[in-house]
Amino acid sequence: PTILALETSCDETAAAIVRDRQVLGSIVASQLEIHQPYGGVVPEVAARAHVTAMGNAIAAVFTQANLDWADIDAVAATCAPGLVGALLVGVSAAKTLAMVRDKPFIGVHHLEGHLYAAYLSQPDLAPPFLCLLVSGGHTSLVQVRGCGDYTILGGTRDDAAGEAFDKVARQLDLGYPGGPAIDRLAQQGNPRAFDLPEGKISLPGGGFHPYDFSFSGIKTAVLRLTEKLRAEGRTLPTADIAASFQATVVGVLSKRAIACARDHQLNTLVLGGGVAANSGLRQQLQTEAADCGLRVIFPPLAYCTDNAAMIACAAADHWRQGHRSPLTLAGQSRLPVTAAMSFYLDKAD
Ligand code: ATP
Ligand code: MG
Ligand code: FE
Repeated sequence: PTILALETSCDETAAAIVRDRQVLGSIVASQLEIHQPYGGVVPEVAARAHVTAMGNAIAAVFTQANLDWADIDAVAATCAPGLVGALLVGVSAAKTLAMVRDKPFIGVHHLEGHLYAAYLSQPDLAPPFLCLLVSGGHTSLVQVRGCGDYTILGGTRDDAAGEAFDKVARQLDLGYPGGPAIDRLAQQGNPRAFDLPEGKISLPGGGFHPYDFSFSGIKTAVLRLTEKLRAEGRTLPTADIAASFQATVVGVLSKRAIACARDHQLNTLVLGGGVAANSGLRQQLQTEAADCGLRVIFPPLAYCTDNAAMIACAAADHWRQGHRSPLTLAGQSRLPVTAAMSFYLDKAD
């Protein structure tokens, strides 16, 4: 099918047209500059900016794809999780267009979208596989059995991986979003310069949880380190700190994802979310996975962070399964990916 999808869960106004797993058009209008003066995303401001940007994004994506409404089989939108006011803009626009143009409406879970981004680089990808979702708000190991069939095998107990990158970047005065800045700076630093904690979760019976993560300890360790160096009047070795931080985070992510795949007899590991753009993570997983016969699939770089192409790609799979959403569906701020199927009326396969 050919799907028009809208994504407004946070601070990017995105529209895309995807045919099966091929991107025909993708527009991502970032609100970065709008929120910059506030030092973070302001929900009410984000919602209003989506209203302003959405019309142009939709018009532009049709121009880019060189298609018109007759070519569209369904209209999709991210319904959860995210900023509820922001989500409502995309959801309302998509439902209105679906109604006016007499097309089915398909709601999509944002994290299911991140998971589907890998299909855009590998259209023949098929479950079962393990997905390591590493975004700004989430870090999870998800066992994928089929479209909408997810089991969480592990995850973070505190900060998300992307959040840790953003917070450490802030401590090093690298600006927002911090992930790309740390990634760039780390390439000039020594990853063994500082010893930082891996963040292990103790189990009641002793030992550590094999697939869970904790990133708040490493963030605090970097804070203590920078405070100490500043108190000593030293210039911060930011490249060495960035490299050590990135190497530690990448190390735990790779180690636990590979162990989880092996223990569950899954021979494909799929990456999703903004941190999947990290060059250190890409390098380390490529080599380590190859060593143990694991196939690793990354999304195209452009579709790691928020975009509507990944949402359209997920919607196309739901469309093929006969899944349709009611026009009463609303946006929800919180919803686990395991509840992604709650968006559909007709769950017949
Ligand atoms: P969620 O999807 O959990 O709701 P989100 O949509 O804000 O959160 P994404 O758009 O998937 O998150 O990703 C943004 C995050 O990815 C930010 O935390 C950003 O710092 C991080 N990120 C982006 N590029 C890189 C990179 N090259 N290295 C590390 N982190 C990165
Ligand atoms: Mg964003
Ligand atoms: Fe996201």
